[in-house]
Amino acid sequence: MRTSTSLTLFLLLCSLLFSGLTTAQINVSSLPQSSMVPGGIAVVPTGTDAREGRYKNQRITLANYENQQYAIIGIPLNVDIGAAQFELTHMDARTETLQFNIEYKEYAESHLTVSNNRQVNPNADDMVRINRESAEMTQAFSSWSDSLTPVFTMQAPVDGIRSSSFGLKRFFNGQARNPHSGMDIAADEGAAILAPAPGVILSTGNYFFNGNTIILDHGHGLISLYCHMNTIDVAAGTRVETGEQIGKVGQTGRVTGPHLHWSINLNNTRVDPALFLVD
Ligand SMILES: [Zn+2]
Repeated sequence: MRTSTSLTLFLLLCSLLFSGLTTAQINVSSLPQSSMVPGGIAVVPTGTDAREGRYKNQRITLANYENQQYAIIGIPLNVDIGAAQFELTHMDARTETLQFNIEYKEYAESHLTVSNNRQVNPNADDMVRINRESAEMTQAFSSWSDSLTPVFTMQAPVDGIRSSSFGLKRFFNGQARNPHSGMDIAADEGAAILAPAPGVILSTGNYFFNGNTIILDHGHGLISLYCHMNTIDVAAGTRVETGEQIGKVGQTGRVTGPHLHWSINLNNTRVDPALFLVD
């Protein structure tokens, strides 16, 4: 009798411990397109079932697809070309380093004229605001939700002409600025912006460069961003499904006309949104 009780307790403890360790395990119905270039995504089979993964000190998405675990890693635009490493932590706390190879990709230049010169050369007060907003964005992009299962195939958030502008080396009024960190979709002011995949609204706000903005959390480090909106139609904390309206196209912030700027982050890294679109 005593043995049996001990055994039951032991098994109960084991199952609790085991379920605690496996909560980070997710099954997904699709993967993003793998493109091992700066600004792309490395989709790498791990050959195991690791508990956690890290690349450049950021937690990465590990997902089971068709009975195989994959590391889904966002590659920064400013990365070094060649061999790259990421670390896995196994269930038994053992660690392992895996490699993938990053190939060169040429991104074109884009020269834009912005009539409001303050949006190209902000004043000292603007810089205080810009730095504060930049820190807020970085914090949002580095958040991690275990409770949401990411969906890696998305529908375009707006009907319109999709530019292939991700990664463009940009010059505003002749001056070099950061490369373009998202996809621009041209549409009329007021056109509906729809959630491209399920998630929870992480935050909303009005930003110096980005204008009216929504950040949408899809889970496990997959986070999307919607900028220059006319209206924001959802509040932080709202759960949205694919195709649900979250706002309308506008021209708030630094723009040359109405469009949606759409960015996607993995492991706090901006990657090409086209890699998630099926059509
Ligand atoms: Zn843009």
